[in-house]
Amino acid sequence: MTVDVMTRPAVLILLGPPGAGKGTQARMLQEKFGLVQLSTGDLLRAAVKAGTPAGKQAKAVMDAGGLVSDEIVIAILNDRMSEEDCRNGVILDGFPRTTVQAKALDDMLRSTGQRINAAISLRVDDGAMVERISGRSTCAGCGEGYHDTFKPPLADGSCAKCGSTELTRRADDRAETVASRLEAYHAQTAPLIAYYDAAGVLTSVDAMAAIDKVAGDMARVVGSVMS
Ligand code: AMP
Repeated sequence: MTVDVMTRPAVLILLGPPGAGKGTQARMLQEKFGLVQLSTGDLLRAAVKAGTPAGKQAKAVMDAGGLVSDEIVIAILNDRMSEEDCRNGVILDGFPRTTVQAKALDDMLRSTGQRINAAISLRVDDGAMVERISGRSTCAGCGEGYHDTFKPPLADGSCAKCGSTELTRRADDRAETVASRLEAYHAQTAPLIAYYDAAGVLTSVDAMAAIDKVAGDMARVVGSVMS
C-alpha cells in the first residue's frame, strides 16, 4: 500500500528509560492528537496473561528485567500496526528498544510508504527512576497510570477517570528488577538516540519536570511535526 503524503499517518517514537513517563505522556498525546498509543510492554503483558506461545517465552525475561527477543517483539508490533485503528497514526511507547528493532521498523514503514515524524527522547536522571517506578500503579479498568506521590488516585483509592477501585502494580516494578531494566536501557536502547539524531528526527524534552509541563513541551513538538 502506498500512502499519500497528505494523509500519511503520523509515527512518533518515545525514547527514555523505564520510569521516564513514556506511558503517561503517550496516553496524553493519544487523547490530544487522536493517535493510538502502542506499548510493546502492554502487548507483551497481554500475551503473558493470555498464555500465548510468545507470552510464555517472554515471561521469564520480563520478570528478570531483560529484553524480550527482537523476533517476538517485532512480530507482535507488526501485527498490531496493521490493525485498522492505527491508520490515523501511532505513538510507539517502548519500541524500538534495540538497533535491530529500529531497522525492522524502518523496513516496515518503508513498505507502507510511512515515515517517522519524530523520535522524542525523554531526558531524566537515572537516580530518580527507582522512586518513580516503585510508586507506580495502573487502573485495571481503564489503564490510567498513577503514582503514590506524583499522581495519586482519589482519596478513597479509586481511579479519577473511570471510578474503578482495582489498581494494580506491575511485577517488574520492584527495586531489584528496575536496576536490570535501567541497565538494559543503557546498553541496548540508549544508542537509538544517536540513530534517530542521524536520521534527522530526534527531539528531546526535559522529563524531570512536572507531568503537565512535560505534556505541554511534548504537545508542542508533536504539533510541529504533525502538519
Ligand atoms: P515496558 O512496559 O515498556 O516497561 O516493558 C516491560 C517489559 O517488556 C520490558 O522490561 C521488557 O522485558 C519487555 N519489552 C517491552 N518492550 C520491549 C521491546 N521493544 N523489546 C524487548 N523487550 C520489550
